[in-house]
Amino acid sequence: MTESTESLEEFRARARAWIRANLRPLEANEEVGILRPTRTDEQELAAVARDREIQRMLFDAGLAGLCFPREYGGQGLSYEHQRAFSAEIAGYEYPARLQVPTFAPCAAVLLEFGTEEQKLAHIPAILKGEEIWMQFLSEPSSGSDVAAALTTATRDGDDWILNGSKIWTTGAWWSDWALCLARTNWDVPKHRGLTVFIFPLNSPGVDVQRIEMLNGGMEFCQEFMTDVRVPDTARIGQVDDGWTVGTRWMFHERTYASSPYTISTGGNSIHGVSSSWVLDIARATGGLADSRVRDLVGEGRTLDLVRDALQNRLATGMRSGKMSDQSAAIARLCAGVTSTRLTSLAFDIVGELGAAWSAEDGAGGEVGADFLMRQTATLGGGTTEMARNVISERVLGMPREPSLDRGRAFRDVPRGGRS
Ligand SMILES: Cc1cc2nc3c(=O)[nH]c(=O)nc-3n(C[C@H](O)[C@H](O)[C@H](O)COP(=O)(O)OP(=O)(O)OC[C@H]3O[C@@H](n4cnc5c(N)ncnc54)[C@H](O)[C@@H]3O)c2cc1C
Repeated sequence: MTESTESLEEFRARARAWIRANLRPLEANEEVGILRPTRTDEQELAAVARDREIQRMLFDAGLAGLCFPREYGGQGLSYEHQRAFSAEIAGYEYPARLQVPTFAPCAAVLLEFGTEEQKLAHIPAILKGEEIWMQFLSEPSSGSDVAAALTTATRDGDDWILNGSKIWTTGAWWSDWALCLARTNWDVPKHRGLTVFIFPLNSPGVDVQRIEMLNGGMEFCQEFMTDVRVPDTARIGQVDDGWTVGTRWMFHERTYASSPYTISTGGNSIHGVSSSWVLDIARATGGLADSRVRDLVGEGRTLDLVRDALQNRLATGMRSGKMSDQSAAIARLCAGVTSTRLTSLAFDIVGELGAAWSAEDGAGGEVGADFLMRQTATLGGGTTEMARNVISERVLGMPREPSLDRGRAFRDVPRGGRS
């Protein structure tokens, strides 16, 4: 076992040596755009298996769950250790599919609200790569307004019976467990009648269907739950108090890029979109001789630096209690806006390749598709508009937006056509 007296620099040197000895350097562009339709199902499943394998290797090497408590298989180290590790692993393969939502927000929520039995059952399994988790929050009728969930859990003795539908889960077709927000009380205002449950995705009554996107990608899924039986021991938090859990759940989702529970490579990038990706593209397409392209690369680097500095400052401020947890919305807004701008810079750089490309075009190919998909960075994890609302109302204390359902039993709240 690693000596607890190991200094940060000794830890960094150990991590560096292990990474170089065991992991493959990434090709330029390799981790960009999780929603790119460039892999066959077989390739995607092989990539998932490799992610699980790397996670197990990290666990065996004492390098998994750096900030997770030791009693659940983690290393009990500091945020600085995680940052050092993230810096060392940048540019190498890493278990990308396990970071979000498995480690953050799902494992983070389990750590905060799970029972001892739940934590012992799941956190070590997660750290060994044996369980990949999905977050079941968004519904066809409610995404931004998460608390308006219609998925219903009804008590039946020691069990609960779940019915409803969740949507926009990335990779549910190859995942294992769900963290699910459900309505358990329709006779109170919407935030006061929710409860959180966990269950395996292969439970009887869970039907995972893949959604074909316009670009041919099939990573998004919709789940239909029909009489899914879940024991009360699989409840997270108190009955009807799911919003307490949900608030922290969304906090962990908003801060995932600077979370101590995830490896953020390439400068806290979203899906590999970073200034080094922009630079790779400029280099690959021969644009670096052009001063206009160099300007765009410089802008990208500036954005990366500002985003990283801001995220670190917010993470430090929230950890020390000097900033409220609501400040996580600032990190979320900055990450979304930066990611879309970086993708736009890449699109500007590739020129005509942004309209038509072939498999031989290397780093410059697919950028046109990434450009069309760039808004995903402002939607997933809660939209940037909602982040602006939180900043305005909860961070700056400006007036709250009008609400038609405040104080009304959810049963009596009028619902639109989508419900
Ligand atoms: C890449 C990606 C991954 C995702 N992964 C998951 C996942 O794992 N699990 C999951 O549950 N969901 C996931 N989602 C879904 C995501 O959380 C929702 O798309 C998002 O919360 C918005 O919800 P919606 O699509 O229903 O849009 P809506 O809520 O219908 O919003 C539509 C538009 O109106 C704006 N809007 C809505 N209300 C307000 C308001 N009060 N003030 C100002 N503007 C408003 C929104 O910002 C948005 O622009 C993912 C989405 C993406 C793109």
